[in-house]
Amino acid sequence: MTILGIDLGTTNSLCAIFEKERPVLIPSPHGRFLTPSVVARLDDGQILVGDAAKELRITKPECCVSRFKRWMGTQESVQLGKQSFTAPELSSFVLRSLKSDAEKYLGHPVSKAVITVPAYFNDLQRRATRFAGELAGLEVARVINEPTAAALTYGFYDRDLRKKLMVIDLGGGTFDVTIMEVFERMLEIISSSGESMLGGEDFTDRMAANVLMKYGLQSEVVEHKHPLQFARLKQKCESAKLQLLASETVSIGLPDENGNMDPTKPSVSVHREEFAKWMEPLLGRLMRPIERALRDANLEVSQLDEVLLVGGATRMDCLRHFLTDQLQRTPLCEYNPDEVVAMGAAIQAALIEENAAVEDMVMTDVCPHTLGIEISKYLGGQFLPGYFEPVIHRNTTIPVSKEKTFETVAANQTEVLVRVFQGEGRRSADNLLLGELKVDGIPLGPAGTSFDVRFSYDPSGILEVEVVIGKTGKSRRAVIAHPETKMDTAQIDLIVRKLQQIKFYPRDLVENQFLLSYSEQLLGDLPGGLREELNGLMDVFEDSMRRGDPDYFEQAKQQLLFWLSSRGFPFDGGPSAGT
Ligand code: AMP
Repeated sequence: MTILGIDLGTTNSLCAIFEKERPVLIPSPHGRFLTPSVVARLDDGQILVGDAAKELRITKPECCVSRFKRWMGTQESVQLGKQSFTAPELSSFVLRSLKSDAEKYLGHPVSKAVITVPAYFNDLQRRATRFAGELAGLEVARVINEPTAAALTYGFYDRDLRKKLMVIDLGGGTFDVTIMEVFERMLEIISSSGESMLGGEDFTDRMAANVLMKYGLQSEVVEHKHPLQFARLKQKCESAKLQLLASETVSIGLPDENGNMDPTKPSVSVHREEFAKWMEPLLGRLMRPIERALRDANLEVSQLDEVLLVGGATRMDCLRHFLTDQLQRTPLCEYNPDEVVAMGAAIQAALIEENAAVEDMVMTDVCPHTLGIEISKYLGGQFLPGYFEPVIHRNTTIPVSKEKTFETVAANQTEVLVRVFQGEGRRSADNLLLGELKVDGIPLGPAGTSFDVRFSYDPSGILEVEVVIGKTGKSRRAVIAHPETKMDTAQIDLIVRKLQQIKFYPRDLVENQFLLSYSEQLLGDLPGGLREELNGLMDVFEDSMRRGDPDYFEQAKQQLLFWLSSRGFPFDGGPSAGT
């Protein structure tokens, strides 16, 4: 039974299998390994996928859709003719096409696959990917992280590798950073971070906007009023961007409003340096996830042995210069950055099949986001709902099972609703609701009856939640499978309204609000231990704001400020400081 290894990319997708003791890429009928992740629906209802759909995008953009990986895990859909499609449905067409190519290559049907996802995908996005696989008739044996797959390829070919690696993965639509240690074929993921809305396509969009500016036009206006012109210009910019690898300057003509090139119109030229300048804001955005991954791994840049580049967009000259500068070393790119992820997925497939060629390889991964439950906090003499309490911190090695004890907040409370969230926000409404579990049968009594919440999380992103009521031993278990995306804003409104009722001098209030929001933003970036420390100080500070005792307030504030500056995050008083 062959298990396919599939890299389901924003721009292109690839499929590989493990054959004759190594990963082998599967060619499409066009003889190419890359299948564009583009879907088109013709007027007669026929669906086109890959190169054919990509070609059609220029003449009939209204029939085509791409970049749908970016809406994985959302309710968004797109209308193509009379039908509307969600991201998993569109992805399933691409998967179906890869499956069919593999079946032609192998000469027999296949029904199982390993599919890769950005490390930074949350559980909803992972589940949507699994669902896409199922829609395509594939049992998804495992969903693995793209940088992990890339590292598997490096680890597979370089058996003596013994290094701390940073994998930088910039694909068409997503950016991932993963730090890992490879030691004698044992691959340990230490931390991962990223942005699911930053990729090579943003660089193309930015180029198109700047080229239009050179022509005295605004990209939003052109996109809205003349979609054919815009689609063609983007296609021109995409190929110009790729050309910049070999040439110092590229010239780009302006298509007319119907998307046809007019050779009589003068073209504008773009120099590699000018392109690099345009891209600076996007390059700058790479640093936050990089720094976060380093902080979580407790490493300095200088302690890394190697930086590996993965994903088509890491070919950009300006990106390599930027990273060389920031990370103080030249990044490595030994394998084709487009292919290394699919090959790693095939190696993972071989691990699942217990293929003898990989029997000495071991891999451990981490969970990319914090998992926890919603709690009420006792602040200012009352319980305030809507706070997030982590149970498993991000970048904990998985599989993992952790337990935390909580207490009921009201006398004679006979049931608890355990709401499970994923994310880094201090308040639950800022995180993603994964599911809920109601436990009843708590014996009557005073507030403070304890109950244990156990989270068990495995590498496929399956979360099992178990709640045990202390006194009775009664337990409830749920596998979080049908999450809702709705956020509970009513609770946040309640907190905000209560905050406004507190009597403070306005000057203090403004600065304190800034201090709180500054700390809140920082909180999401901190690793487990530091985060708990800061969270505790923020609780005290918030509590002191409510109580209105000036001494207590001043003490709490000074403690928080001292902690921030002693940890290297001094607070400068916010935007109004010094006025
Ligand atoms: P992937 O999702 O890994 O296939 O990456 C696709 C992205 O890589 C697209 O946004 C491409 O524009 C980008 N890309 C591929 N080759 C190059 C290149 N030579 N220079 C700049 N970007 C590239």
